[in-house]
Amino acid sequence: MSEHPLTLSTRMIDSGVYETAPNRITNELSELADGVAIVESFSHVVAIDSGDGLVLFDASSAPTGKAVAASLRRWSDEPVDTIVYTHGHLDHVGGSRVFAAEAAERSRPRPRVIGQARLPARFERYQATSGYNQTINLRQFGGAAAAAASERQDRPFLPQGTLWPDVTYEDELSERIGELRMELHHCLGETDDHTWTWLPDHGMICAGDQFIWNFPNCGNPQKVQRYPVEWAESLRAMAVCNAELFVPAHGLPITGRDRIRHCLEIVAATLETLVGQVIEAMNSGASLDDIVHSVSVPADTLALPYLRPLYDEPEFVIRNIWRLYGGWWDGNPARLKPPSDHAIGVELVALAGGIAPLIERALELSAAGEHRVSCQLIELAVAAEPESLAVHEARSAIYGARRGAETSLMAKGIFRSAKADSDAVVTGEVPETRMVLKLSD
Ligand SMILES: [Zn+2]
Repeated sequence: MSEHPLTLSTRMIDSGVYETAPNRITNELSELADGVAIVESFSHVVAIDSGDGLVLFDASSAPTGKAVAASLRRWSDEPVDTIVYTHGHLDHVGGSRVFAAEAAERSRPRPRVIGQARLPARFERYQATSGYNQTINLRQFGGAAAAAASERQDRPFLPQGTLWPDVTYEDELSERIGELRMELHHCLGETDDHTWTWLPDHGMICAGDQFIWNFPNCGNPQKVQRYPVEWAESLRAMAVCNAELFVPAHGLPITGRDRIRHCLEIVAATLETLVGQVIEAMNSGASLDDIVHSVSVPADTLALPYLRPLYDEPEFVIRNIWRLYGGWWDGNPARLKPPSDHAIGVELVALAGGIAPLIERALELSAAGEHRVSCQLIELAVAAEPESLAVHEARSAIYGARRGAETSLMAKGIFRSAKADSDAVVTGEVPETRMVLKLSD
C-alpha cells in the first residue's frame, strides 16, 4: 500500500523537496475524511458518501475506469447517485461507462451526470475531430503518429458509452444530495468547461485540473486555447474559501487551511506574472520570437514540488498567451505567407552543396547541445528529401538526443514521436512518413 497521500503532500509542500512523482497512478483508494475518499489514477476519482448514495467527482479514463471502480467498491457498496465532471477531458469522463454498466447489472438507476454547459460542445468537437485528436494524443505520449494513421479511423476518440451530462449549468449551481451540500462554480482555465466545487460540510474543494502538481497545462502545443488569467482568478476564488481539504484531479490532495491558500496563491501569482510580462512585451512591439527568448519563470518557482515543468512548460504557455491576445502570426514578415517547407529545404540543400553537409551540420549541432538549430536543419533536410534514409537516420538520432534534453512530457512526447516516425521509415514500416499524414489528415 502506498503512503497516505495527505502525509506525502504535507511533507513535500512543507519541505519544498520533490521526493517522488506526485501523480501516482496506483488505482488505490485512500480515505481523506469520514465518508470522503480518493482513488488515485489517471485521473483520480473523488467519492463522497452523501447519506443518499455516492457523489463522484470525475470517472477516470476508459482504460482505468474498471480498476478505479473495483477499489471504490471495496470501500463502499452504496449506489452512485451523481457524477460531477470537473471538465470534459477523456481521462475524466471515459470511465463513466463502467459506472453505468455497474448500475445496469445491479438494476440500479444510472448515475446522473452534472457538467458545465459548454461540456457537450466539447464532446461534439471530439466527435468532429476524432482522427486529429487521436493523432495528437499519440504524439503527446510519443507514439509513431504516421504508422497509426490508418488504425485511428476505426475507433472513435470519445469512447463509446461515455455518459453525456444529464444536467448542465452556466455559472453556478447549488445542489443538495442527501445531507451533502455542493456549490459548483464554472471557470475558464485548462478548458472552457471547468467546474470547481466547494463542499461546505467537509470544508473541501474539488478542483479538477486547475491544480495538477505540475506547471499548469496552459500551453499545450497541440490543443485548443487555454485561459491563464481566468485560471488564476479561479485559484484566488478557491483560496478565499478557507478550505481544510483541497482535492485536485491529478497529484496529491492537500490538507490545512494555510497550506492550501499558500499553494493556490503561488500558482495564481505565477500565471499572473507570466501573462503580465508577455502583455507588456507585446505592448512594447516585441515579436513572439523576442518574447519566447526573453521571458521565463524563475528556476526556484519551477523547483516547487507542485510547479515542476514535467507535463507542460512556461515556453508553451507564452505561445498560448500570444495566441490569446494576438493572433497566429508571430510578427516575422517572412512567416506571414511562407514558402512550403519543401521549397525552402531544396534551396538550403542547394546552398549547402547537397544533402550530406546539411545532415552533417545538424548532427554536429546536436552533439554540441544546440538542439533548436539542429532540429531546424534536419527538418529542412527531410522536407527537401523526404525519402532519404540517411536523413531519417540522422533525424531519429537528433530527436532522440533532443528528447533526452527536455523536461516536459509534451516536448519529450512530440520529439519521441518524430524519432518514431523516422524510425518507421528507416525500417520500412511506413514507406514515406509525410505522404501518409497528408493523405489521411
Ligand atoms: Zn486531467
